[in-house]
Amino acid sequence: MTKKDDIQAGDELVFVPLGGTGEIGMNLNLYGLDGKWVMLDLGVTFGEDTLPGIDVVMPDPAFIEERRADLLAIVLTHAHEDHLGAVQYLWPRLGCPVYASPFAAAMLRRKLGETGFEDEVELHEVPIGGRFELGPFDLEFVTVTHSILEPNAVAVRTRHGTVLHTGDFKIETEPPVGDATDVEKLKSIGEAGVLAMVCDSTNVLQAGSSGQEAALRDSLDEVIAGCSGRVIVTTFASNATRVDTVARIAARHGRHLALVGRSLWRIVDAAREAGYLLDLPPLLSDTDIGYLPREKVLILATGSQGEPRAAMAKIAADDHPSITLDQGDTVVFSSKIIPGNGRPIYRLINRLHRRGIDVITERDAFVHVSGHPARDELAQYYKWVRPRTVVPVHGETRHLREHVAYARSCGVPHAVLAENGNVIRLAPGQVEIVDTVPTGRLALDGNTLLPIDSEVLRERRRLMREGVLFVTLVMDEDGGLLADPQWRSQGVLVDGALPEGGLADTVRRSLSALSATKRRDDELVRETARLAVRRELRRVYDKKPTVTVELVRI
Ligand SMILES: [Zn+2]
Ligand SMILES: [Zn+2]
Repeated sequence: MTKKDDIQAGDELVFVPLGGTGEIGMNLNLYGLDGKWVMLDLGVTFGEDTLPGIDVVMPDPAFIEERRADLLAIVLTHAHEDHLGAVQYLWPRLGCPVYASPFAAAMLRRKLGETGFEDEVELHEVPIGGRFELGPFDLEFVTVTHSILEPNAVAVRTRHGTVLHTGDFKIETEPPVGDATDVEKLKSIGEAGVLAMVCDSTNVLQAGSSGQEAALRDSLDEVIAGCSGRVIVTTFASNATRVDTVARIAARHGRHLALVGRSLWRIVDAAREAGYLLDLPPLLSDTDIGYLPREKVLILATGSQGEPRAAMAKIAADDHPSITLDQGDTVVFSSKIIPGNGRPIYRLINRLHRRGIDVITERDAFVHVSGHPARDELAQYYKWVRPRTVVPVHGETRHLREHVAYARSCGVPHAVLAENGNVIRLAPGQVEIVDTVPTGRLALDGNTLLPIDSEVLRERRRLMREGVLFVTLVMDEDGGLLADPQWRSQGVLVDGALPEGGLADTVRRSLSALSATKRRDDELVRETARLAVRRELRRVYDKKPTVTVELVRI
């Protein structure tokens, strides 16, 4: 297969990641056979400092959108934002049925409600360990463990053989909520032969194991036992098991648990709808706890990553309507300090320290376990599944490279370093990259999706860096200036920064150099003035703002 046209018709089994391979976030994985496609996961990632005004970014599905008639379904492995978060935005472009576990379906329904597609999407709930057929694909959910309820690997069986798509996983031997990894099923899939394991690479750089939630319970319990005042635990809202953990610790220490943050309530509601967290002591809201003694309260709050609009940021800034902290109170970050989020998290922590509040993070005590497999867990999966090839995904390039080397060192016969847009032939024959298709990223700007390299966003970045200056010229038909050129700037010049008349003189000089004919040409006049102003600002000010010239002829 060498030409793009063949991708549509091929009788080869191919894997095409459009997002999440070469990055951690916005997963979009495609499996293709006989011209039919199945999508595994459709997630988002979060905006960066380089994208002003953008909170959410997702993969550009153009490749599969062009083939939407052959897209059989979107199958969601679990309910994390990086796997399910883009469905509410991109589903209208794809228009196919969606398959998800009961909890992921409960989460998705809430999110689709936000964008108004709740009633349009054909949503199939796949029971735990469920199996279903889609065209040439026979799919089976395999229960794994992770940092959210109902995480699944998916066995993709075809006439060419079986692929195990691991989704996100770790090995939690006794998960406090939900089922343990279905090791027997993984082994039996392995015994029948696995062409390839498309595998989580997030923690491949970590030796050993990710750690157990049950052990974390004991440690967190000790930490909270040692606190005297009010205690806040902040964590990833999506981790319903951590809600259960904290609720039980609170009860043991005679504290009432309050949940603060909309996304926490949403996860608890969805969990209960799917049959989890039903036996917890009553959960209070932030307004319920005002009259309770400080040492009788444990608060679970969103915002562990320093998100500026989340509960924790408001509490730290003493700006929350109902929650206050005093000297001697404690905040426990039961979460990972994700390297890219370091700055906002440390800002939050500094703020708390300044107010005399004790802060405990994963650096001080065992208060968090990761949801992704460290090296020992990966090796265990290779043993259970015995894939002929490992295709690392869900990692930056450095993770994928390391995962390729690690898989080989563990005796996996073959491993392939891929990136978004690669067409990876899984069968027949040796697994290899045979083609590349276009990929891209879309940014959610208000309610509009824009390519992140679009002119609008490029312009916004420029404005953010350099500011903007507007010049107005009033001329007669022959190009004589009828008034001094006027200017107004935003984000670039302080009052009186330029010598009196400086810019106006520059404009006047540049226009007087034009011939009479050229001065009648609007476009040319505007461009001449624009370049002159830019040159002058560069000379005097060493700045290159966007300059816009408006021309009025009278
Ligand atoms: Zn996940
Ligand atoms: Zn993930």
